[in-house]
Order: sequence, then C-alpha cells, then structure tokens
Amino acid sequence: MTVVVLLGAPGAGKGTQAKFLETEFGLAHLASGDLLRAAVAAGTPVGREADRYMSRGQLVPDATMIRVFLDRLDQPDARSGAVLDGFPRTGTQAEALDEALTEHGRRVDHAILIEVPVEDLVARAAGRWICSAAGHVYHAIAHPPRVVGVCDVDGSPLVQRADDTADTVRARMAQQLGALEDVVRHYRRRGVLRTVDGLRPIREVTEAVRAQLVFDRGAA
Ligand code: AMP
Repeated sequence: MTVVVLLGAPGAGKGTQAKFLETEFGLAHLASGDLLRAAVAAGTPVGREADRYMSRGQLVPDATMIRVFLDRLDQPDARSGAVLDGFPRTGTQAEALDEALTEHGRRVDHAILIEVPVEDLVARAAGRWICSAAGHVYHAIAHPPRVVGVCDVDGSPLVQRADDTADTVRARMAQQLGALEDVVRHYRRRGVLRTVDGLRPIREVTEAVRAQLVFDRGAA
C-alpha cells in the first residue's frame, strides 16, 4: 500500500506524471481538480461552491476540499495505493491527510516536488490543451498532438480549460505558491520530500520520478 503525493505549482506536470504512476505502479490517480470539475459539471452544492473560487483562480476552502478529497481516498480502488495530484495544497490539508491516513494505519510514503520556475508555468498554461474524454494533456509547443485539436490516444476533441487564461494563471500562482511552500515544508520535516527538475523533457521527469520511488522502496 503506497501513497504518493505529487507536489508542484499549477502546470508543473503533476497530472502527466500521475498518469504514468497509475499505469506503471497500479496506483489509483486521485486528482483534486478533476473531482471539483466533475462536481461543477454535475451542479452539486459542492460544485456550485467550488466554481465560485475556481473561476477566479482561488483555492477552494479547506473544509470543503478536505471533505471531498478524503471521501474519494476512502473508495475501494484507492485502498491498495494512490497517487495524489493537487491535494494537499495547504498546510491544513496536509495535516488533515496525515490524520486520516494514520487512522487507517497508512501514511504518505513519498512526496515528490516537480520544480518549475513561475515564468515558465505561465507560458505553459497558455498553450495547454486537454482531451475532453480522459484528460490526456497536450501543449501547443512542448507536446503537440499529431492532429491539431484531436487526442492521440482516444481521438476525442481537445479543449482549453476556462481557468487557463494568462490572467487567471497569474492569480492562481500568486495565491497558491505560498501555500505550496507550507506543504513542501510539511513533508520535508517528515523526511519524505524528494525533488525533481520539471523543466526537463517529460520522459526524463518520468525517469526521475520512477527512480525516486524505486530507490526509496529499495532503501526501506
Ligand atoms: P488543478 O486542476 O489541480 O489545477 O485545480 C484547478 C482548481 O481547483 C484550482 O485552481 C483550485 O481553484 C481548485 N483546487 C484544486 N485542488 C485544490 C485543493 N487541494 N485545495 C483547494 N483548491 C483546489
């Protein structure tokens, strides 16, 4: 039973690497942003609340986020191992996660920080396209699809997220980077934080993430 937390600013590549960990290590991929977007699309009370914050690039309040995410973590598919993508995003969320895991005799085994400078993140987000069926991620320059506007994997149309405009991205960064620092400190104190250079090509980042998991497993 392995719990991996992927950390990084919005657009650092957490989703891309999480999909790799899902396939390679058989972990359930739990993405907080996807959970919230599903709630928004379904028009649930949580979705209506979340939408007010997400559309402004702000964090959804801790109490709501913790409830939604911990419910998801409790589902059967996550019990044998999970990669957490986008949660925890604040110190309070990190504490709540530790408490919930401890109750079940589990813990965060690996916290992997994907480091990318802010100015690169703003440029990345502006060119990001996402497959409407399964969330496969493309970039107009760094990782274009073979056919413009169409997902290589499943042929579904690619869409841009409403909250990926340059202004919203800058607002997200300003609000979220301070909170990310708290989460990084949290895991550094617990001795499980590892860092990878997120500016390298996707495949090399994947190799670095894999190396951390395999190395830690060998060292344990
Ligand atoms: P993401 O897809 O991870 O970039 O998340 C999109 C948006 O959902 C963020 O900009 C936040 O508004 C919200 N969100 C996602 N995860 C969290 C979280 N752990 N805490 C608070 N808000 C979140």
